[in-house]
Amino acid sequence: MQFTDPGADIFVPAGAPAAEEALKSVSHLCVGAHQDDIEIMAQSGISDCLGIPGRAFGGVVVTNGAGSPRTGNYAHYSDQQMLDVRREEQREAARLGRYAIQIQLNHPSSKVKQPRHSEVVGDLTAIFAGCRPEILYLHNPADKHDTHIAVLYRCLEAIKALPPSQRPRRVLGCEVWRDLDWLPDNEKVALDSGRDPGLALKLLAVFDSQVSGGKRYDLAAMGRRAANATFHTSHATDNVAGITWAIDLTPVTRDGGPSLAEFTAGIVGRFAADVAARLKAWA
Ligand SMILES: [Zn+2]
Repeated sequence: MQFTDPGADIFVPAGAPAAEEALKSVSHLCVGAHQDDIEIMAQSGISDCLGIPGRAFGGVVVTNGAGSPRTGNYAHYSDQQMLDVRREEQREAARLGRYAIQIQLNHPSSKVKQPRHSEVVGDLTAIFAGCRPEILYLHNPADKHDTHIAVLYRCLEAIKALPPSQRPRRVLGCEVWRDLDWLPDNEKVALDSGRDPGLALKLLAVFDSQVSGGKRYDLAAMGRRAANATFHTSHATDNVAGITWAIDLTPVTRDGGPSLAEFTAGIVGRFAADVAARLKAWA
């Protein structure tokens, strides 16, 4: 297995089987833009696979993580040193979370932002063709990070390059840089991210180069999960300890399905209508 960027990293934490076999075994796959996105988005999938025969979690990071802010212990790091640190942090997360495989494609975000970029889409198509996940976790289309949206688009281009029978069965867009609490309740997909809280916190804190400068993504992600679980319904008690909200993007991956922009505008429109209806009812 080889990808286009010479700095791409293919890591099988258990040491075996070979990368192709490890990828083929993946039942829950997450593709994120940056190191640490997987652990914020897809804790539910990581928990789903832990110790369950026949299930395996796989992670893909598309960008090289260059240009990330650096403070504290990392303030004097060069770009290259920062890339090395972030790659190793992602490998450590894969070890801790017992992923079957962790791939880091190492693309600069300037490439990722080019529509249908042949190297980026080619790498992603090879990954999607090399496994048949039950669930694919991607960024969500209402995210406010430009690189996240670009990665989502490149993933959808790659999925649609495959014959329908080879596409992931279910594709979910998960919250990172913008919560999805505003989604109409009947359109929310609740991912149970409240299991394995000790591991979940470790998986977020392992990204020390991002967290130690004062951006406590670890505490923030855990807090958001707890808040989502509690604020979901006003009358029922919490039956899970943490929720990550997601949008079901599967319709967008089908031939003849809506465009991502049309699909997302529909959801936002239904949210606006819900707010307006409640204001009208109680005026
Ligand atoms: Zn990110």
